[in-house]
Amino acid sequence: MIHRSLAAIAPILLVPLMSGCAAYPYTPPALPPVTAAAPSPASAMTMSTEAKAPVTILVSIDGFRADYLTRGLTPYLSHLAATGASGVMRPSFPSKTFPNHWTLVTGVVPDRHGIVANNFVDPARPGERFTMASDQPYWWNAAEPLWVTAEKAGIPTATMFWPGSNVAWGGVKQAGDHGAVEGGTRPRDWQQFNGAVSDRQRVDGIIDWLRRPAATRPRFLTLYFDEVDSAGHNDGPDSPQVDAALRSVDTAIGQLLAGLAALDQPANLVVVADHGMAATSSDRVVALDQLVDPADYQLIEDGPFAAIQPVPGHEAALERRLLGHHDHVDCWRRNQIPARFHYGRNPRVAPYFCLADAGWLIKAKRPDTPFAGGTHGYDNADPSMAALFIANGPAFRAGVRLAPFDNVAVAPLLRDLIGLPPGRGLDGSDAPFRRALKR
Ligand code: AMP
Ligand code: ZN
Ligand code: ZN
Repeated sequence: MIHRSLAAIAPILLVPLMSGCAAYPYTPPALPPVTAAAPSPASAMTMSTEAKAPVTILVSIDGFRADYLTRGLTPYLSHLAATGASGVMRPSFPSKTFPNHWTLVTGVVPDRHGIVANNFVDPARPGERFTMASDQPYWWNAAEPLWVTAEKAGIPTATMFWPGSNVAWGGVKQAGDHGAVEGGTRPRDWQQFNGAVSDRQRVDGIIDWLRRPAATRPRFLTLYFDEVDSAGHNDGPDSPQVDAALRSVDTAIGQLLAGLAALDQPANLVVVADHGMAATSSDRVVALDQLVDPADYQLIEDGPFAAIQPVPGHEAALERRLLGHHDHVDCWRRNQIPARFHYGRNPRVAPYFCLADAGWLIKAKRPDTPFAGGTHGYDNADPSMAALFIANGPAFRAGVRLAPFDNVAVAPLLRDLIGLPPGRGLDGSDAPFRRALKR
């Protein structure tokens, strides 16, 4: 664990609150109340005699594409990047929310941790389907998330939303007992995801947890925002609605910084996104029924990719027309998906898998009504899928621009920050951050 005095961290937290942001083209209108609530660096220095150890806060801004940071709309995030370490992060494949959030907290790729999509089936559980509401531990148990490792090591954790953080990890759901789970570990404090909880309430929840005395204060926390992703889906990445969501989430980051400063609480912040966002349109749809006979398959999931289950006995007919390259789409047998995706060994990946070019959609049939918006799930190396990464706090050097890296490196970094031993059998290491970390 790296300790550093408040004198060093306080200016980082407070400068954007107090400076009027002369260096930034945009001054957020919602900032004055936050500024009023924040202490001056001098008063912050005298607020508490207790020297607090830094906590680690993992913040996810769902769908925050890496280049959104250059729009000049996010002064707090830009300041954290300028005074910390930042870079372009490649998501894991598929570039979807649940697979990538689970990779970020486990350090293994979706094919290994088993959350292979937001929606999938498992041959070992006929008749069931994983959805974003599934809290049955069975689906999640293949890789241990950081909060479980920390709790087992006696380190208190708290999650203000994160996919999988409501799961009694390692537990077994009892048949016919109203869904009761035997055993398992959850964060000491966690919240059931609810999109209606405002950003401000989410931040306040984190700050309230940090008000506790040292013995019960969480040392690893997560915080999750979904509004940038929602705006990207509804209106596309280049829309004014995404710009508004960027301003709004940046204000929430400012509120988090002000809250930490007011508590005199040093923190190592790791701010990430799970994936980027590509513009989509009804003009860029590949209709599966134009390629293959709908009698030959069942569609498990469609959109940027299609997960396809053959109708028993129709495999040969399906393969003949489906496999190979089509305009804007490539289709493979599960075990022939190109190696760079690290995807297809897990039996939860459908037997046939088609991937669209970024910005294209695979649908069962042609859409009836025109639409335009955005989505993700494409090739994880496509620039449109690149994700935000910023780290800032006493553990990090200032002004470090990282080379592009894979998101399997985030969990090893967090282990360093939390004070956990290096993980075994993970798909990444903390190597991308060595230059950025003070040792
Ligand atoms: P998607 O864009 O389909 O990959 O998923 C993003 C959406 O997942 C967000 O807009 C949220 O509404 C939803 N979501 C995020 N976290 C959770 C969670 N822990 N439980 C259920 N739904 C969630
Ligand atoms: Zn997402
Ligand atoms: Zn999304």
